[in-house]
Amino acid sequence: MKLEREHKLRGRVVAAAEAVLADQGYVSAIDVLGAIGWLDTTTLKRWQQSRIPCLEAGIQTREERIAEALHLLRDWATEKHLAPSETEYLAKTPARTPLRFSTSGDAAREGLYRTHWLRQDLSDKQVKRIKAASSRPPELVVVQSLKSDWTCHRCSGSGDLLIMEEPGPSCLPCAGLGALVFLAAGNATLSRRAKAKSEVHAVVVRFSRARKRYERQGLLVHPAALHEAERELGLIPTDPPSPP
Ligand SMILES: [Zn+2]
Repeated sequence: MKLEREHKLRGRVVAAAEAVLADQGYVSAIDVLGAIGWLDTTTLKRWQQSRIPCLEAGIQTREERIAEALHLLRDWATEKHLAPSETEYLAKTPARTPLRFSTSGDAAREGLYRTHWLRQDLSDKQVKRIKAASSRPPELVVVQSLKSDWTCHRCSGSGDLLIMEEPGPSCLPCAGLGALVFLAAGNATLSRRAKAKSEVHAVVVRFSRARKRYERQGLLVHPAALHEAERELGLIPTDPPSPP
């Protein structure tokens, strides 16, 4: 009975892994758990924002079954000679703390989650691109509130902009983002440059009642980064040369 169940699970894990691998050139435990229907995107988002203590806390499947799936993925990837690549998962919070996967916190189990399996036939350039994309810190998301009916969990203040944290919404000054300025979407080149120059930046979204989804409004960037980008693009006069 147990063997038959494991055999069935193996079929599902392998089919999911094959499909993801073909699509993106590598496959991770998170991809597979999502593809077999054990991990939904809402839970994944809550976990990325550190709103649940660990990923497994948001998965309904029993811990032993999850472990079976993780081992099946590793065995299949090893058989296929895929190249393991350890990837750090960081929280989408200003502190960017490393995220925890398992309830137990067991090092081997965490490792199974963190490993991305890469196809061997990828070019060096493709491998580099995949690794860079995986290790890029996740984008911070700031929400433009429709009504200021929320309370900052630190200072009990409110306002137009908030960032979701584990205990609840926080105002930007309390989250350490108070120095950033808003750059409305519209000039893609300016946005791209200002973002690249700004060590800390965040995407600003607002909920559209009509479309029932969050829509991008612009960016929050450092004022100096914005100034420099505007100057480079000739949008503001260059600084006058300093007097001799
Ligand atoms: Zn506050």
